[in-house]
Amino acid sequence: MSSTDTLGDDFGRALVTGIREALVSAADALGDLDRRAGDGDFGANVRTAMKLLDASVETDRPGTSRAWLTALSRAWLGVGGTSGPLFGTFFRDLAKAADEDAAPTAERFAEALAAGQATIQKYGEAQVGDKTMIDALDPAVTALREALGAGRGPVEALGAAAQAAVDGARATAETTARRGRASYVGDAARGVIDPGAAAMALVLGAAHAAAGGGDAVDADWIG
Ligand code: ADP
Ligand code: MG
Repeated sequence: MSSTDTLGDDFGRALVTGIREALVSAADALGDLDRRAGDGDFGANVRTAMKLLDASVETDRPGTSRAWLTALSRAWLGVGGTSGPLFGTFFRDLAKAADEDAAPTAERFAEALAAGQATIQKYGEAQVGDKTMIDALDPAVTALREALGAGRGPVEALGAAAQAAVDGARATAETTARRGRASYVGDAARGVIDPGAAAMALVLGAAHAAAGGGDAVDADWIG
């Protein structure tokens, strides 16, 4: 398999359903992290977004990658907190990059992730190290580009991206938040993984799985 092979024309559906499954099963653990490191609403925000997704999928029956990602984007945009609009605009960038019919390549997906990262940073103004979802996304984009540049196939490259995202999310336990409500609790959040970074790592894990790199996303490390 070469790195220009497509991710499959079912990639969008597999990605979004994989994200849903991973986030729903980790919602309690994610909520617990936000209780310890923030204001405690993240678990509820995740659940609300996934309920909105279920409802829109039921009604609209998305038939393309772009339609699946648009449904996910709108679901997050319907949620409060800081994470709702940030994930919403992030997934909107992924949706924009998805062709109506053709299957995306891993290169195209990497550029879409980078565009989504730029959007999150434009609105949220977080830098790497601020203990946010960026700390999982930034190393994932770098790892994905590096792996593709080195000629790795899409599954292996997305595996490297997912691993980099998990490593980045875990490392947030050692940092103090400078953005979002977690910044209000300061050093009290030391030792606690940032919930948004953990959720972003699950998104990358779901992308790896959707490309054919395994069935379920491992969330045991979240706690
Ligand atoms: P809130 O911080 O308003 O309670 P949520 O609990 O819904 O929002 O989401 C918290 C997550 O949002 C954090 O774990 C962090 O990853 C992410 N986040 C918060 N602020 C920012 C920001 N400015 N930029 C990027 N991500 C952010
Ligand atoms: Mg919160």
